[in-house]
Amino acid sequence: MILTRCAVCTTDLGLSLGKKCGRCSTRYCGAECQVQHWKEGSHDQLCKPIKKAGGAEQYNANKKYAAAVTVAAEACAEDTKGQTCYICTQALHWKTKEGLVRGCACRGTAGFAHVSCLAEQAKILVAEAEENNLGDKAWNERFRRWDTCGLCEQRYHGVAYCALGWACWKTYVGRPEADWARVSALTELGNGLSNANYDEDALSVQEAELSLKRRIGASRASVLGAQGNLANTYKRLGRDDQTLDLRRDVYSGFLKLNGEAHETTIHAASDYANSLSKLKRHKEAKSLLRKMMPVARRGLGEGHGLTLKMRGFYAQALYTDPATTLDALREAVMTLEDAERIALRVFGGGHPTAVMMVQSLRQARAALGVREGDVESLRAAVEAMTPGDA
Ligand SMILES: [Zn+2]
Ligand SMILES: [Zn+2]
Ligand SMILES: [Zn+2]
Ligand SMILES: [Zn+2]
Repeated sequence: MILTRCAVCTTDLGLSLGKKCGRCSTRYCGAECQVQHWKEGSHDQLCKPIKKAGGAEQYNANKKYAAAVTVAAEACAEDTKGQTCYICTQALHWKTKEGLVRGCACRGTAGFAHVSCLAEQAKILVAEAEENNLGDKAWNERFRRWDTCGLCEQRYHGVAYCALGWACWKTYVGRPEADWARVSALTELGNGLSNANYDEDALSVQEAELSLKRRIGASRASVLGAQGNLANTYKRLGRDDQTLDLRRDVYSGFLKLNGEAHETTIHAASDYANSLSKLKRHKEAKSLLRKMMPVARRGLGEGHGLTLKMRGFYAQALYTDPATTLDALREAVMTLEDAERIALRVFGGGHPTAVMMVQSLRQARAALGVREGDVESLRAAVEAMTPGDA
């Protein structure tokens, strides 16, 4: 995680409290912890290498990056066996000797790469946009290479995204605090950590991101984006009420700012509906989704991950509602059969969106079977009762 705590006693320092080592910028709550770190924490030996690496944040980012690449390459080892990197064409990276990853929606022999090579590519694209003053739109498009595969155009997920998040943070952490690449890198890091289920680490990064954005007066959209990401982490940590409050604010914020048909609003609506369902407010969830699903289909298309996810949430709201009707259960099954077919075609079977559809369909079919009085279904229902979620 980024360094928002005292290096000795881990007291939370936020973005600016406490004091720093004058040489290497390691952070402490006060003089006592700093002295202790010199005497007993081998800071006398570490200070120089940390300073040489570019200071405490950079040193930490480099170390975390290397560890995240190892984790990602190990997790992908089975899937990437016998393949080569589409960027450098080698199996082992010439310099780092790291293995390959694939964490997007590429299939067959496509999309295998080294995290280093993906990072290098993103870094060069962004640098070109900056050197040639290509403007915000081009810069934003190019910055997407940190989180979205250039071949299949889908977001990375899991440990591969986490490694790229650290890569991105390590690349821009040395820039001034309000530099937009550094702020955006913090977002990537938070999302990457969250994607790999490091929820506590994601939480502290996203809280830092939100307070930084407020402090530097970032745009309303950008603050809402940070709140949305923070809400995702609250949800994963089981803080359902806080999640709902935040998501309601984010949805109404984007609705006011960008209008109903904008992707940010659709995304926020989908998340808000999911939170409503989670707190068993099925009626509100269903009515919001009924309103927004056609907007998503029109604006984003049938095969868009968000459209599919909303249809999944809608079906879940139908079959998890204890007051649901037989017709509603049939509608849930039909919706999921269609959504599953599209998800498998667009993303392939290993992708989280497709996995959510497959699981939800199994649960919906079981719920329908139970309602129709089928004994086999009753047994299947018990087995399928792990809640499907994305
Ligand atoms: Zn301390
Ligand atoms: Zn130091
Ligand atoms: Zn490579
Ligand atoms: Zn891909």
